[in-house]
Amino acid sequence: MSTAPSMAATNQNSTQGPVTGNSETPGLDSEIQLVSSLAKLQELERKIHELRGFMPQGLLEPLVPIANPDKVALGNPVAETPRVLRASLDEAARARVADVQQFQSLWRDPELTSVWAHVESRIKEANGQLLQPNGKWERDYDVLLEELARTEKSKIDERQREGEEAEYTKAQSTEGEWKNVLERFLQRNMPGVRVIKGLDESSLAVALVRAGLVFQVKGVSFPGSPVSGWDVSSKIAGRSPTKLENAVLGCVESRPRKWDLSFLLDMISSYADIKQTPCVKCNRLTDNGAQLPTLRRPQANQQSADGPARIYTFDALHYGCA
Ligand SMILES: [Zn+2]
Repeated sequence: MSTAPSMAATNQNSTQGPVTGNSETPGLDSEIQLVSSLAKLQELERKIHELRGFMPQGLLEPLVPIANPDKVALGNPVAETPRVLRASLDEAARARVADVQQFQSLWRDPELTSVWAHVESRIKEANGQLLQPNGKWERDYDVLLEELARTEKSKIDERQREGEEAEYTKAQSTEGEWKNVLERFLQRNMPGVRVIKGLDESSLAVALVRAGLVFQVKGVSFPGSPVSGWDVSSKIAGRSPTKLENAVLGCVESRPRKWDLSFLLDMISSYADIKQTPCVKCNRLTDNGAQLPTLRRPQANQQSADGPARIYTFDALHYGCA
């Protein structure tokens, strides 16, 4: 088990691919994958030490307080009847079997397939000589993995922020670009979505016919500047907003990309079938409080900015399932 650190050091230059045919098998070619595999190996080793204690101690734990009255503990009292003792022994056995199964599934983890293949090939290269471990782990790889994952995420966030800034600047540089965005949206003819242009230059009403929801959308701009953001409300003359409208509005108002009309129109449209769209988390339409999934989370794999006009898609969620 503790051969792992030396494998990590040598694998980076290794060009012989011990990775088996399946291309979905994660390889060992990035720092984060290496660390993730090492963390799993470390966990396996820890479990191996644990497994050694199963036979016979782990299985016979319920007998300990009987044989050794000094060791009676709150969690391990003397069984009052043979039937209770039998039940405790059964339970101890089931728990150990579950532990062994958990160990096996970690061992067969697809991520470790390439690790085992690498070990095999190294042993073959060494004419059957087993790899010599140095006997100890140099690092806590689960801690290292967390650090790497955090760094990776902040890099991605940073790239995203920069990308959005560039998009914003580009959108602002064309006077009336939002009209093109609206035109492209209207051409898509989204079922159940009706857009009514308002009297004001940059105001619209978006009606979701099947959902029975109507939203007012209004461009925000400083005099002489292009529209820099979009306000949404559900105030309709002559009636107050419904509970559902308020819940949806709360989510729409907290959206990112407030300058982006295309994001807003796609987000509002994602509510068109709210009464038929189950929550992605619990797969149910209404939660225990009889509420519909009114939260919308943008899906990660949005098309890139350089392609044709981007279409945003959203996952529906209950507030309680977020
Ligand atoms: Zn749910």
